[in-house]
Amino acid sequence: MISELGLPTIVKACVSCRSTRHRPTGKIRVNANHKLLDVWLLICCDLCGRTSKVPVHERINVRALDHERLVMFENNDPAIVRQLTMDATLAHRAAYRLDWAGTWQLDTDIPFYDLQRPDAAPLKVVVRFELPAPVRVEKLLTAGFGLSRAAVHGMVGSGRILLPLPLDAKAREDFTFLVVTAPPLSPERA
Ligand SMILES: [Zn+2]
Repeated sequence: MISELGLPTIVKACVSCRSTRHRPTGKIRVNANHKLLDVWLLICCDLCGRTSKVPVHERINVRALDHERLVMFENNDPAIVRQLTMDATLAHRAAYRLDWAGTWQLDTDIPFYDLQRPDAAPLKVVVRFELPAPVRVEKLLTAGFGLSRAAVHGMVGSGRILLPLPLDAKAREDFTFLVVTAPPLSPERA
């Protein structure tokens, strides 16, 4: 389980100082102009406190916006502030980067499992993400099993760990993998 410790830092240049680190202020601004709405996420510089705006919706028709969502915007709902702060699409559109360092920790509840035992039963491991923090698969395995990188690469190479995505990929959502005692027999490989 990837547990949430905090929100990612929004990395963009501050117009007032040299800092690039911003956090959400917890507020969302909604401006209405007839039927058109502008919605911004308000963020502030970590160093000088200057507030800036991240456009969430620009000149959107009020009818096009889900009513519940609008109420959440108007109430500065913490759940929607969290969601917007972690939104990679929004970050991409507004041309800033998200720094996920320190936002998560890996909690394992894997029971004692002897990876070396030849007769151990296959183990199905479910990795859950509380927040969409990108974490390298290799790091999940080395930290989760307490193994070296070489050992993990060896087990994946020999088919003892069956992964749905490559070791050097970054996962950011739930996935399941298998640990088997004997590598599956594959006629193609023979
Ligand atoms: Zn600043």
